[in-house]
Amino acid sequence: MNNRPGELGRPGSGKRRLKVLLSQSDNRCCADCGAPDPKWASANIGVFICLKCCGVHRSLGTHVSKVLSVTLDDWSDDEIDAMVEVGGNSSANSIYEAFIPEGVSKPGPDSSHEQRTKFIRSKYELQQFLKPSLRISSAKTSASLQTSFSRKIMDTFRKRSTVAMIFELEALLNRTDVLKVESCFKQVGMVEFIGLLKVKVIKGTNLAIRDMMSSDPYVILSIGQQTVQTTIIKSNLNPVWNEELMLSVPQDFGPVKLKVFDHDTFSADDIMGEAEIDIQPLITSAMAFGDPEMFGNMQIGKWLKSDDNALIDDSIINIVDGKVKQGVALKLQNVESGELELLLEWIPLDQ
Ligand SMILES: [Zn+2]
Repeated sequence: MNNRPGELGRPGSGKRRLKVLLSQSDNRCCADCGAPDPKWASANIGVFICLKCCGVHRSLGTHVSKVLSVTLDDWSDDEIDAMVEVGGNSSANSIYEAFIPEGVSKPGPDSSHEQRTKFIRSKYELQQFLKPSLRISSAKTSASLQTSFSRKIMDTFRKRSTVAMIFELEALLNRTDVLKVESCFKQVGMVEFIGLLKVKVIKGTNLAIRDMMSSDPYVILSIGQQTVQTTIIKSNLNPVWNEELMLSVPQDFGPVKLKVFDHDTFSADDIMGEAEIDIQPLITSAMAFGDPEMFGNMQIGKWLKSDDNALIDDSIINIVDGKVKQGVALKLQNVESGELELLLEWIPLDQ
């Protein structure tokens, strides 16, 4: 994951911690318009922004957005802590731009001042793009309450469980009384999907032998209650599938679970290894950028290789021809050998 408060939060000079955060790939573009190399930040919202968007933030007043220069201003430890806690532009945007309605598009680096102002006001001042259940329906909310409300959203968001976040926020809202929550999430039993995950299973390499000399491998992917699988390839330890599978991603998604099996005609199929795919980086960066068709080909995020995941290399998230794609190379777990190559594509449902 890109966002690791623990790692960024270790002691060190404030400016250095801010630089580390700024160097994170999602913070290399303005949170509001995508312009490269933002040099400004909103310290209370927790986003890095460009000079043009900074002007709009300033006009909203410091009770909505407290703008500071990354290089020129002095930052207090508290301000830096708050930025680190939010975790950067992707995290912030996954909250503030969770639901951008049809007909509203995110401004680009060359958008007019009017377009920019309209979007930024809707996003932070009116908070119109939050998940419906988090939207404030009372207009008479005091500014300070809104600020603490935003902070609370960020605090709870860090725990990364949508369900836990909703429960905590509802508890908070019941206490304050001033705010009302729409009850979308209370429709018990209804699964809301946020998008589609297209997974191209490309190939396997050096898979484990489960029959006499070879195996008849196939791949199963699952998320939530859904399971999809590839075709079976006969007697092949280096199978090439190039097969596209589609999964609907629910709001409270977890990792995609992948399993490789050897097909046996006369007995139960044997497992040939497994792996988990963390799709949070893909979805978070896709949401941070909004409509990918507004951008040229570029890198927008990364799922980092670590000791606790199955990645062979860092897995890069790119915009390619207006689509958000991520190549993934996995070392299969709990098996003597085998690697698998996939290409993920994120298709949000609001497009
Ligand atoms: Zn901008």
